[in-house]
Amino acid sequence: MVQSAILGFPRMGANRDLKKATEAYWGGKISQADLLAEAKRLRLAHWKIQQEAGVDSIPSGDFALYDHVLNQIQDFGAVPQRYTKDGLDTIDQYFAMGRGHQKDGIDVPSLEMVKWFDSNYHYVKPTLQNNQTFKLVETPKVVAEFNEAKEAGIKTRPVIVGPVSFLTLGKADRDQTVEPIDLLENLLPVYEQLLTKLKEAGAESVQIDEPVLVFDLPAKNKAAFKPAYEKFASLGDKIPKLILSTYFGDIVHNLDALPKTVAGVHIDLVRNPEQLDTVIGALGPDTILSAGVVDGRNIWKTNFKRAIELVEGAIQKLGKDRVIVATSSSLIHTPHTLASEKKLDPEVADWFSFASEKAVELAIIAKAVTEGPAAVREQLEANAKSMQARATSSRTNDPKVKERQANITEQDYKRKSEFPSRISQQQKKLNLPLFPTTTIGSFPQTKDIRVQRNKFTKGEISQEEYDKFIEKEIADNVKIQEELDLDVFVHGEPERNDMVQFFGERLDGYAFTTHAWVQSYGSRCVRPPIIVGDISRPAPMTVKESKYAVSVSSKPMKGMLTGPVTCLRWSFPRDDVHQSVQAEQLGLALRDEVIDLEKAGIDVIQIDEPALREGLPLRAGEERTKYLDWAVKAFRLSAAGVEDSTQIHSHFCYSEFQDFFYAIAALDADVLSIENSKSDAKLLKVFVDEAYPRHIGPGVYDIHSPRVPSEQEIKDRIAEMLQHLKPEQLWIDPDCGLKTRGWKETKEALTNMVNAAKFFRAKY
Ligand code: GLN
Ligand code: ZN
Repeated sequence: MVQSAILGFPRMGANRDLKKATEAYWGGKISQADLLAEAKRLRLAHWKIQQEAGVDSIPSGDFALYDHVLNQIQDFGAVPQRYTKDGLDTIDQYFAMGRGHQKDGIDVPSLEMVKWFDSNYHYVKPTLQNNQTFKLVETPKVVAEFNEAKEAGIKTRPVIVGPVSFLTLGKADRDQTVEPIDLLENLLPVYEQLLTKLKEAGAESVQIDEPVLVFDLPAKNKAAFKPAYEKFASLGDKIPKLILSTYFGDIVHNLDALPKTVAGVHIDLVRNPEQLDTVIGALGPDTILSAGVVDGRNIWKTNFKRAIELVEGAIQKLGKDRVIVATSSSLIHTPHTLASEKKLDPEVADWFSFASEKAVELAIIAKAVTEGPAAVREQLEANAKSMQARATSSRTNDPKVKERQANITEQDYKRKSEFPSRISQQQKKLNLPLFPTTTIGSFPQTKDIRVQRNKFTKGEISQEEYDKFIEKEIADNVKIQEELDLDVFVHGEPERNDMVQFFGERLDGYAFTTHAWVQSYGSRCVRPPIIVGDISRPAPMTVKESKYAVSVSSKPMKGMLTGPVTCLRWSFPRDDVHQSVQAEQLGLALRDEVIDLEKAGIDVIQIDEPALREGLPLRAGEERTKYLDWAVKAFRLSAAGVEDSTQIHSHFCYSEFQDFFYAIAALDADVLSIENSKSDAKLLKVFVDEAYPRHIGPGVYDIHSPRVPSEQEIKDRIAEMLQHLKPEQLWIDPDCGLKTRGWKETKEALTNMVNAAKFFRAKY
């Protein structure tokens, strides 16, 4: 009997119910008891979905009010003292670590939150002290949830993050020097207690996540698997069977660290099907293989034929009792259910499968490999038909796009001249002072803007009325920039709902959902558009607004685009063609837009690529080089069609370029604006060391908080930058766009910024 298993289920609910409840709780609108009751309702509903689908191993403990790693930080007593000293109750302490707490005289910032591997989910970093001790709470959340499910008559498989991953994903607290992995010995007794409690509660097996096995691990972290899992093995029947789970990569390079004593090993066969045989060869004689064949990261219907072939391959070597059919990773990266999508074109909807549908797929695959294909013939036939329909649909295949791709030449990636010649031509046209000031694109998205956009989407106001409204917003933005005396203006992006969705809605090859939200962090969800087919631009996307902005502006106006790699990374990509192909198509579509902007009199064009770095493959080496190669090419394709006198900017929301600086340089953008106010100005040294010749605008103030930086503070920041960068290279701008800010602080901060720039201008 081949069992099926889900590694984790989305927490938010069909209507982002958890988001609504937590935000209502934070806003003082519902009580803690209400919040907990809603969370309990959601957990039960989600277990039932999986149970009714026929899934054998249903996860518990995968739920979290904010983040599952944070659950463990709290349950392990790894809470930094700044969160315990004010006597916050358990729930408020938990949220204080997740999002900070500023109320009733208590003021404590959140713990650091970073991206979970290469996904768009963010986890809270375990933040550890030199003398860190761990102490398990009386009732850990995973135990409580296991019991809760049991009471509802549902047997679950608890999920925890394993000790090596917990520590590897952690960091030393500020002013602390501890190497987290050195705390392993202190931490293991907590795991022993936790696993014992789960066994006593009746758990037969536990999913213990060790996804760091897909990384290139430091020797010390790699070596930590042995003592940790030998310890667990020595506990014998006192603890549940362990299914050690990895995802988002292959583990072939770490097989020597893979514990032989665990009951099962889970691998991601969607990402790396080729690892199957090698991993099987490294398993212990009785070890179970959990085959992750249903994609936890994307929204496509599983190709049953391909999935079944993979699983059959494993069964041939291991036998039916030693194989589990599973999702490749937790399903938190997928939306709740396709059933909510009432507006999708049925042709396209038939290609998708969200979390609830994936649960059903899993049960079908398990049945097919257990009883033979005849047992699910109808489903297999329907699936094959759907695969065929998608592969041959005119929505996925556009011969014109393919032809254009085939005809790309080396010249298409290159500007006409090198930077020195370009910049002098640009300077003649733009006539900018030393230390030019600019902003990153968006201005405050006020309530009025959201209201008007909503009215327009609902058809309550006409296109004409909406356009008039947007024009007025743009004109206002220009006037404000004139008053602030900035040097290069932006139109302010009032017409954009989201920097990727806006472009997706204007490109062929994209599909949109109404409810397909996925958790990004805490209560924040995103609704990525879906790339369904070959991408092309049927008509200009931003020219109308930019042209209007130029017409009312006395200074250079910067056109604003989202780059090909960011459009790709912040969408659900196709799984039937390589991402490089999709990036190239986006690059070509944006190239047309760039050229049209230029024709419309826009002399400065910014192509944002904040997602370039997050797309970096998790391991260094060939895979990374290949990624950077196609990512850089896609960007260059989008940018290189212009005259030398048109200035190309790009923007990044970070400044850690050390590992791949050559690729940033290879973008050949005339001006880069980067986040820098929260980073060390020392990070700019790489630009000097590598003799980076082009212009750079490192952010001089943080835009994530309403705090207004003083003129002096900005001057200090600029002085620091001038220790590394040449004056004629330096632009003065904020860290990122200002859409989440209010106007008051925006004007005050920009006034100080412009004054600081003028101060240095006078000095040089
Ligand atoms: N141009 C975008 C803005 O200003 C850039 C946003 C981003 O970098 N995330 O909002
Ligand atoms: Zn940014």
